[in-house]
Amino acid sequence: MAYFVCEDLKGASEVKIHDEDCGHFKNRDVDAETMEWHGPFDYDTAKSEAERLSMKYKKDWRNAECCMTNP
Ligand SMILES: [Zn+2]
Repeated sequence: MAYFVCEDLKGASEVKIHDEDCGHFKNRDVDAETMEWHGPFDYDTAKSEAERLSMKYKKDWRNAECCMTNP
């Protein structure tokens, strides 16, 4: 399983980790200017990437509840 980190470029919400099967990832708007998806990563790398990005916005990061209830 690969993981992707979703960055809200406006810093409006937390940085979230999604898995590759997640509908939010599969249906993402590739032209969106407000969201950037990073990856694919293994889970540990996704986690450090999420930590790094969240620091930038002084936000928290978390596992997205849509797909990551059992990481
Ligand atoms: Zn998800």
